[in-house]
Amino acid sequence: MKLSTGFADPIVAKHLVDGIRATAQTPVKFMEVCGTHTVAIARNGLRDVMPGTITLLSGPGCPVCVTANPDIDTAIELGRQPDVILTTFGDMMKVPGSRSSLQKEKAAGRDVRVVYSPLDALTVAEEHSDKHVIFLGVGFETTAPTIASAIQEAERRDLDNFSVHSVHKTVPEALRALVNDPEVQITGFILPGHVSVIIGSEPYRFLAEEYGVPCVVAGFEPVDVLQAVWMLSKQVADGRAAVEIAYKRGVVPEGNRTALAKIEQVFEPVDAEWRGIGVIPGTGLGIREEYARFDALRRVPVTPEPPKDIPGCQCGEVLRGITLPFECKLFGRGCTPEHPIGPCMVSSEGSCAAYYRYTDYGKTA
Ligand code: SF4
Repeated sequence: MKLSTGFADPIVAKHLVDGIRATAQTPVKFMEVCGTHTVAIARNGLRDVMPGTITLLSGPGCPVCVTANPDIDTAIELGRQPDVILTTFGDMMKVPGSRSSLQKEKAAGRDVRVVYSPLDALTVAEEHSDKHVIFLGVGFETTAPTIASAIQEAERRDLDNFSVHSVHKTVPEALRALVNDPEVQITGFILPGHVSVIIGSEPYRFLAEEYGVPCVVAGFEPVDVLQAVWMLSKQVADGRAAVEIAYKRGVVPEGNRTALAKIEQVFEPVDAEWRGIGVIPGTGLGIREEYARFDALRRVPVTPEPPKDIPGCQCGEVLRGITLPFECKLFGRGCTPEHPIGPCMVSSEGSCAAYYRYTDYGKTA
């Protein structure tokens, strides 16, 4: 099959769907790791055009969704400290922690502000020199270079009243944790495009070589996702496992060396807790000793109350790919984007929100 560069072309899409149907002869489960892929699949009805042999699972690639309760509780506690302004991306506001959310804290009078970039948080710090401005850093390798730049810029400006609470995570080892999980059944991964723009495709090589799991890095247009599914189906049919790139207009195997160097300068690997998966060694990004004065928890140590689970919420199972979003008993029955119970219904990249907004799944039972 000759692939076109017309990645929004319906004729190409139809050829790809025909190719997938002809190739996928045995039952397989492909996980789209990235929340943006989940949105693309739900919004464009791609699940409906798959043959019965293919199950698409949503994975842990929404950074808001995988932020564990203890990290949210800690952020809330930081925001409760005297003379602190807590800044964050908008998606984090409604995410429930164990007992509160940043939105509820703001309603209760805490100074919690939404910013569009960590550099905006630097501006807030410059405008409020009598306050300590903390930026809640959430995201994967995609956003980490920007946060690293903000920390270096704060140092350049000699800002004493700015720090970051880093709950950043890195993706490849989380996929190892899923493959090693006996409850999780994954035949192949649709790898995240945005993360891979930064890290490239090489860091996933172990998935194919050690575990025999086919992988394809995909872009975000409907044809990109279909192309990735077709390439995965072809690997399965050929009995091979490799890491391939279907998103060559954005990703090279070695990644973006400048962005990777920026991450390396400011952050170091630390253990991180992922909602639903648990602690995965080395998948967090802690702030290096050289930049310790910009580390919120070194500046303001806090101890939140012990975390509590959200009753009935199956976000953990959804993020591990063992429950589909619309299989949760609360999906659409108490948990909606307007009144979310779990984080997967809050974030614009959350799989529950994507399926609720764009499909009829789970709404007719
Ligand atoms: Fe969690 Fe709501 Fe999704 Fe259920 S429907 S898994 S409660 S976000």
